[in-house]
Amino acid sequence: MHKHKVSFLLVILSPLWLACSSLSYAASGITGQEVVDLRILETTDLHADLVNYDYYQTKVNNRVGLVKTATLIHEARKEVKNSLLFDDGDHLKGNPLGEYLARIKGMHKGKKHPVYRAFNYLAYDAVAIGNHEFNYGLEFLNTALKGAKMPVLNANVISIKKNKPYFTPFVILKRNLVDINGSQHELKIGVIAFMPTQIMKWDKANLEGRVIAKPIVESAKEYIPIMKGEGADIIIVLAHTGISSTPYTPESEHDVYYLTQIPGIDVVLAGHSHSVFPGPAFTHLPNTNIETGNINGKPVVMAGAFGNRLGIIDLRLEKKANKWTIIKGTSFTRPIADESGKSLVKTDKGLSKLVKPDHDETVDFIKRLGL
Ligand SMILES: [Zn+2]
Repeated sequence: MHKHKVSFLLVILSPLWLACSSLSYAASGITGQEVVDLRILETTDLHADLVNYDYYQTKVNNRVGLVKTATLIHEARKEVKNSLLFDDGDHLKGNPLGEYLARIKGMHKGKKHPVYRAFNYLAYDAVAIGNHEFNYGLEFLNTALKGAKMPVLNANVISIKKNKPYFTPFVILKRNLVDINGSQHELKIGVIAFMPTQIMKWDKANLEGRVIAKPIVESAKEYIPIMKGEGADIIIVLAHTGISSTPYTPESEHDVYYLTQIPGIDVVLAGHSHSVFPGPAFTHLPNTNIETGNINGKPVVMAGAFGNRLGIIDLRLEKKANKWTIIKGTSFTRPIADESGKSLVKTDKGLSKLVKPDHDETVDFIKRLGL
């Protein structure tokens, strides 16, 4: 009797189970394939705007501030299974908070720069060094960098003394990503960063005799095979440089267009020019799909400046012949405020609390000066 019951149940249930499992495959649209969706998030040109505040007018300004962008970051992460977060550089200098810390208070032993404290809190996967990071000198920068928990990258600034990159040129991030059927795969994500060679003019006093800057495109061509050799499945460039199709020269300041033409580079995060890509300013750029945010077939994003937008690139990767290939990449940005300056997102309370002492000290200092 008992035996009969079991076989009866098996007969009834197994077709059901089969039906369910084939249904779940059917829902995903892909059967038996290894497909991973990966979201890349970008902030760029924060210029020390951690707080939604205008220090010159001493009032709240909801058009800026990482405390706002942070909420977009949390939301964008929650929407997907796999994501990575990067900053594209120019994050230490540009407002009184950054100035007060560098020129008045100074970086004291064991203290972390509030920008890197914020980056640690938000768990950035890697960040690029921008040209403005040199404005307070190499010693200040090196002290500040000690507070960053994530890799801080640049590949085209070369130490004259050591004849090798002054900073870590690239990293291969090993990440366990969940595919659309729920299985895990370890992907090796190569991340490299560049900045304009104009630093040698802009920060001559701080840099001359200590470093040289190599052209961006030539440096990228040198490093991509090395990164591939170290097993990078995909390569993301943190390109602290703008977007222009003006013919390339080694002195060009805005090189994203030409980086997208380099085989092996899969994704470019742009910055430096405070523009928004995809956006109306780039409608006439050649070989550009403004709807999908692709230049020369590669996804690119530039998230404005001061934390006013979060850059997002959604990638779909498929494993074919033991190799991960990007089969689709779409980019877009999300703003923290509408056109009138009305806030569209809540403030991240945790981050706000974390940077409040530095913010308050800066405001007090400005008040004492009677500005
Ligand atoms: Zn810059």
